[in-house]
Amino acid sequence: MQPEVKQRVEQLLKSGPRKVHLIGVCGSGMSGLARLLLAQGHGLSGSDLVAASAAAEYIPEGVRYFEGHAASNIDGAELVVFSSAIAAENPERAAAAGKNILCVRRAECLVVLADQKSAYIVAGSHGKTTTSSMLTHVLRQADQNPSHYIGAQVPLLGANAAWTGGKPFVVEADESDGTLALFAPQASLILNIEEEHLDYYHSIEEIVGVFALLCERTSGPIVYCADDKNAMLLCSHADRAVSYGLSELATYRALDVHLQNFSSRFTVLREGKLLGEVALDVPGAQNVCNALGVVALATELGIPWNQIVSALAEFRGAARRFEVKYRSNDYMVVDDYAHHPTEIKATLAAAKNSNWKRVLALFQPHRYSRTKALLGEFAGAFHDADRVFITEIYAASEAAMAGVTGEAVAESVRADGHAQVTYEPTLGRLRAAVNAILEPGDLVITLGAGDIHRVAQHLAQGLSWYGEFITKIKPESVLKRDEPLHKHTTMRIGGPAQLWFEPCDEEDLITGLRFAHDRGIPVTFIGRGSNLLIRDGGILGLCIHLGRPYFSRVEVDGEFVTVGAGARLKTIVAEARKHNVGGFEFMEGIPGNLGGALRMNAGAMQGWTMEVVESVRSIDLLGHVHEVNKADMEIHYRSVPHFQTHIAVSARLKGKPSSKEEIGEKLKAYSGKRWTSQPAAPSAGCIFKNPGPMPAGKLIDELGLKNLSVGSARVSEVHGNFIVNDGGARAEDVLQLIALIQSRAREARQIDLNTEVIVLGVDN
Ligand SMILES: Cc1cc2nc3c(=O)[nH]c(=O)nc-3n(C[C@H](O)[C@H](O)[C@H](O)COP(=O)(O)OP(=O)(O)OC[C@H]3O[C@@H](n4cnc5c(N)ncnc54)[C@H](O)[C@@H]3O)c2cc1C
Repeated sequence: MQPEVKQRVEQLLKSGPRKVHLIGVCGSGMSGLARLLLAQGHGLSGSDLVAASAAAEYIPEGVRYFEGHAASNIDGAELVVFSSAIAAENPERAAAAGKNILCVRRAECLVVLADQKSAYIVAGSHGKTTTSSMLTHVLRQADQNPSHYIGAQVPLLGANAAWTGGKPFVVEADESDGTLALFAPQASLILNIEEEHLDYYHSIEEIVGVFALLCERTSGPIVYCADDKNAMLLCSHADRAVSYGLSELATYRALDVHLQNFSSRFTVLREGKLLGEVALDVPGAQNVCNALGVVALATELGIPWNQIVSALAEFRGAARRFEVKYRSNDYMVVDDYAHHPTEIKATLAAAKNSNWKRVLALFQPHRYSRTKALLGEFAGAFHDADRVFITEIYAASEAAMAGVTGEAVAESVRADGHAQVTYEPTLGRLRAAVNAILEPGDLVITLGAGDIHRVAQHLAQGLSWYGEFITKIKPESVLKRDEPLHKHTTMRIGGPAQLWFEPCDEEDLITGLRFAHDRGIPVTFIGRGSNLLIRDGGILGLCIHLGRPYFSRVEVDGEFVTVGAGARLKTIVAEARKHNVGGFEFMEGIPGNLGGALRMNAGAMQGWTMEVVESVRSIDLLGHVHEVNKADMEIHYRSVPHFQTHIAVSARLKGKPSSKEEIGEKLKAYSGKRWTSQPAAPSAGCIFKNPGPMPAGKLIDELGLKNLSVGSARVSEVHGNFIVNDGGARAEDVLQLIALIQSRAREARQIDLNTEVIVLGVDN
């Protein structure tokens, strides 16, 4: 940072409330900076790619938010600050340059704020967030009224950043882009220095060089970990250096370390003299070390021992640092940010050192550059896990690199001797795979800096809902977590249902609907899945399927047939035929249940479902039962909207007297017609609604798209409106194929094709 630029930022921020614009404001570092600037009284705007409706989750109140990046967003700004993820071509950065508006990196702005206080920098490759949170908490409890700036949300501190009237300012400083060297703090706490961020640095020497500059610019104590080789080599000869660690050479030394069930105790000596015992309620040897660093710095700053010890005893971790998402007698789910082999080893060692029978490690590699550089080290990082699941790499805006894949990481862990390693590319498949082997006594831990925390969140939610709901229903009902939905669709595609529920009767069904309603759990009805395309991430919330015998009854009374919504259409035809009742023959080849047929107003051979319906019994999402006559329902081609919000439980149908032979003749004719014009391979029936007089299948055929494929999804050669699964197709393949067909129809014939198949669920 040029000294004159720094001076301009200093002068601007000191000269009263100013207008500051933050590009990439939803990132945790930028949102922390927003909090500090707001507290100083500046007027803030910010932009990011996060939807406006979700931005409040990330940014403090008082920031004027713009969704997306546009040059006009910086209108009126006197200072523009951008996060390291924002490229120079960003329209807001470019506009700031064009208008000559002062425009600096996040850390450059932070440095100016740090200069206004007594800054205590916490730096290192691992453990910064936890250690800076601990230090802030200790200073707070010692009435020092510190400001803080930390890279994650810390429930104990209230937020990731705060600007107070006190002098101390604890800063978690980022070493990833060299800006660490810009700070001139009053004290520095150096935890460790490892090979990391090799997308920015060329070598470990370069990284150490940046820490060396920080040391040079530190006016007071440089507290460093004597157990870390690089920190030791760098700091041991520095003036004002104070060491800590397990090493005998350390000034502050931990002895008698006891790690037990996610907590620890240890004794501290200073230059060989006993200071006392420390108890921690955060797990692992790495946190013993982090806490010892805090003990050393706080003691050097003159904080009394008793205050340090009592603050450390009540410290609880920062978000995503061994964060317990769920705990019962049977299961524990933990989420951790560890994404470097050293962090993974430390976190898994803490997990292993517990009473849980098995540790299941779910790792999402982060960035291609890191994965490539550290592949060998990842191989040996999972020894403390009983089962290892590895997903595809989280790109974090990097371009893919040939041969650098999650599968390669899994292979290297396997080659290192770990027998129980599974590669599951997507988060949806990971959830289903973990659930399939989950047993009481399991500790599940998600590891990574990308979005794998969603899996922990999802598992925790599923376990907690399951644990509560199972106690409210009868043993005859079926309740499962993360049930793979490819088992329940005719296309054989679909990620897992977070909760899968088959009530045994109406009472349990109502219990389920009310349970979901009271907790805001989304509900989806699933029939035989013959008109569904379920995305690879599966369906969140409660999926209800009327698969138990109670819902499959068919009762014939004269020409009236009362049918449960879970009965197969072909069963209705067969039962009615036994009583010489016809009129339902069109249903024979439609592979759904009555519930799905009512919702879809399914039809074939000039007959359709609502034509034979007299009345329906349905239940709304609050659990209220309704008896509805056909005359009171809105009915469309392939849609009856009532069933979007009401689950059909049964219907009274009206047939007509017919002989068994007459019915048999019709069935034979219909079935002959169907099986010559329809593929036998797994499908969801017709993918598109007919766009007018021209059937969609004929149009697709004329466009020459039969046999067009994406992955294992293919347009059937038998019928152009069927997409078949040739084996192992994913929803993503089918969706891409659908988009391809739609764009060809639009280009060639200016026809818009709309899907008949219902697409449900979330992507991965
Ligand atoms: C080979 C093949 C041939 C097909 N031929 C035809 C055909 O000739 N004519 C035709 O119309 N369709 C056809 N289909 C599509 C499909 O079979 C029908 O749409 C069928 O009615 C869907 O029933 P389902 O039970 O499988 O419902 P699903 O596919 O499970 O669900 C369809 C919709 O109904 C809703 N739903 C399910 N159960 C209930 C309930 N109890 N209460 C309220 N809503 C509910 C679901 O939420 C979803 O919105 C065919 C499909 C295949 C695979």
